Amino acid sequence: MQRSILLTPGPATTSDNVKYAQIVPDICPREQSFGELIREVCNKILLLANGENTHHCVLFGGSGTAAVEACISSVIPDTGKVLIIVNGAYGERIAEMCKVYYRSSQYEIYQEAPTKLPCIDKIEKRLQSSPEISHITVVHHETTTGILNPLEEIFALAKNYGKSLIVDAMSSFGGIDINLDKMPCHYLIASSNKNLQGMAGIGFVLCEKKTINTIANFPKKTLYLDLYSQYQSLLLKNEMRFTPPVQTIYALNQALNEILEEGLAQRISRYSNNWQCLVEGMAGLGFNMAIPDMPQSKILTTFLEPDWPNFSFETMHDFAFERGFTIYPGKTLGIRSFRLAIIGDIYENDILNFVIIMQSYVKKICYI
Ligand SMILES: *Cc1c(COP(=O)(O)O)cnc(C)c1O
Repeated sequence: MQRSILLTPGPATTSDNVKYAQIVPDICPREQSFGELIREVCNKILLLANGENTHHCVLFGGSGTAAVEACISSVIPDTGKVLIIVNGAYGERIAEMCKVYYRSSQYEIYQEAPTKLPCIDKIEKRLQSSPEISHITVVHHETTTGILNPLEEIFALAKNYGKSLIVDAMSSFGGIDINLDKMPCHYLIASSNKNLQGMAGIGFVLCEKKTINTIANFPKKTLYLDLYSQYQSLLLKNEMRFTPPVQTIYALNQALNEILEEGLAQRISRYSNNWQCLVEGMAGLGFNMAIPDMPQSKILTTFLEPDWPNFSFETMHDFAFERGFTIYPGKTLGIRSFRLAIIGDIYENDILNFVIIMQSYVKKICYI
């Protein structure tokens, strides 16, 4: 199979074994053996986050946003209020969901610029001035920029004040260590196609066992995405309520085998090594990081577009694409930028090859 390298934050480059795992005999997902596969997949996901004792894994067919929406729409009671921490597009997306599902008195937004970290003191002040806040949401790795938000500190604050914490860990899960045993967030959300290196089509919410039953009788705001109903169906029957993406689940099982075999620590170190090579290689060509002073996820980086007369993101994209590499545009930061991720089944050599291609691009536009 032709190998294309996606330097995008997901879907990521997958191994051939993950691709081929989708080629299986047709099966009805209500069969017991498929139920066993679902159980196995859920257990492996929990194992990765050290959450087997503390959490349940609830799968949904859909992209990552579906799982975030399932959580947001299902876990806040009519008497509750959610504090939404926003420093990028994914935090904003959660705010949009709250606008869809809740009265304006049920949520408040704490907004920072996408180039800034959320400030723990400011969050604490919000909790003190609005004691009716029952839930806090945070995006662990803001994929808008590559900034890693201070999850441990926010978890400690939520715990101190007795608030439920909802974490969008979509682009960090499987690429940054998250230990649910030590840090039992109430809800942690991720998907199949980023650091897990599976196919797109499955989102999941890891729900704290101790508290999941408190949402049982909350008014239902969505049928398909109702978190508690999906949880019960998986718990009692190992079944998703509606037709699951059957082949995607086989691929996810293979992808989970691969991350468990590689070891989470080794995957994290492969990713940081990819990141180091990329950032150094790009700096050597004159491409600088847009936000170098913030804590980096080492999963994705925003680069400033250089102001060379012949440079354009589109020509650079096409040049790289013709040579097997897909790069990613920036999201509005008020500056011209582009983004490169280093996740997926890719290695130092791939990054070095990419840097060589970028070098040819730079030579070409500088000598036109
Ligand atoms: C990728 C991502 C999502 C979900 O995106 P989908 O396109 O729906 O899979 C949500 N939050 C973050 C932080 C992400 O990086």
